[in-house]
Amino acid sequence: MRVSVFGATGSIGESTFDLLSRRDDIETVALTGGRNVTRLAQQARSLSAQLAVTAHDDCYLALKQALSGSGIEVAAGTDALIAAAERPTDWVMSAIVGAAGLAPGFRALAQGATLALANKESLVTAGPLLMREAARHNARILPVDSEHSAVFQALTGEDITTVERVIITASGGPFRTWSKAQLAGASLAQAAKHPTWDMGQRITIDSATLFNKALEVIETREYFDLRPEQIEVIVHPQSIIHALVGFRDGALMAHLGAPDMRHAIGYALNWPERAALPIARLDLAQLAQLSFEAPDPDRFPALRLAREVMELRGHAGAAFNAAKEVALDEFIAGHIGFQDMALLVERTIDSLLSNSGLTDAVESLETVAAMNQMARDIATRLASRMT
Ligand code: NDP
Ligand code: MG
Repeated sequence: MRVSVFGATGSIGESTFDLLSRRDDIETVALTGGRNVTRLAQQARSLSAQLAVTAHDDCYLALKQALSGSGIEVAAGTDALIAAAERPTDWVMSAIVGAAGLAPGFRALAQGATLALANKESLVTAGPLLMREAARHNARILPVDSEHSAVFQALTGEDITTVERVIITASGGPFRTWSKAQLAGASLAQAAKHPTWDMGQRITIDSATLFNKALEVIETREYFDLRPEQIEVIVHPQSIIHALVGFRDGALMAHLGAPDMRHAIGYALNWPERAALPIARLDLAQLAQLSFEAPDPDRFPALRLAREVMELRGHAGAAFNAAKEVALDEFIAGHIGFQDMALLVERTIDSLLSNSGLTDAVESLETVAAMNQMARDIATRLASRMT
């Protein structure tokens, strides 16, 4: 099988690399990364990739040097990422972080490749467009986000019209039990430490605000074509159950597993087979307890904002994600506080409500990119007034 990995040097990328390294039937077409060219070059040599691409023009020479004598092609920049996505392959991992991950995945669908989708921003910003593109080219999108992989697995052999509800779990993040007063002083170091999952910095902080879960609720709606009120979130601090599907006969099918992304990645890599994977087996007696609690909308407004975004439809998902990306950058830079992130996203959406583009149907990557830029500009301006 021919594979390409976008965002190979990240957390999901490394887990994908680990699984690919264990196989001897894989032909690696393209690997892409950002600034970590040393690691990208190591991966490319190790998997004998045809092509290695850095997203940044100014990293080209360093990557070229790191791969000299290897015979591996080297390229840099956004256009090179798109060209890499157009290279014939069978399976593509979409694991770039942020809205930048949308275009390469979209292009991979046009050649009919199977898209293993970790980049949740793709469905949040351009869900209908992506699903249409997949259908048009008879390409398959397989979810890699653990909750969505869990729902997908629970639905195997089931009729989607018999589904009453889907429940995705949230760990609650490092601040699950913190008061509002404590949250006001939450630091970057505290927000960047996840209690159960080991992930990239951005998604880890998004888990602390519950923006990650907010994105996932929208992702669930787009992927499984459910009504917003069918999608529920439950806080489950142990992160053992990833999602549950409720059917009209009252049955709830839960998906359990150790918090290791190689499960969902491996499932998408081997689908429709279920192959052996190097995942720790759960010891239920040792776990002893699985607990649940309702998310608190007062301390964590992100889920309420996601509901509003789903009501608005159109480009609201792109605006929501863009504002969230700016808020995250501003928090990481130390310009705004932890709770300001949700405030900034809410104010950005509010200021876009009078803009007809917000609710226009998503027709092309260009209109998504335009809304992304507009919301980024507004959020950046609003953030400067908060500091
Ligand atoms: P990381 O930050 O660990 O990795 C991101 C990858 O994207 C790196 O390869 C990075 O390159 C590259 N990259 C960063 N910015 C750009 C850009 N502008 N253009 C092109 N490439 C870029 O992220 P994660 O692996 O944690 O997450 C990846 C995606 O998967 C996200 O959408 C996330 O929400 C989703 N996801 C992640 C999970 C996890 O467990 N980590 C779980 C479920 C979903 P470099 O580092 O070389 O600069
Ligand atoms: Mg997830």
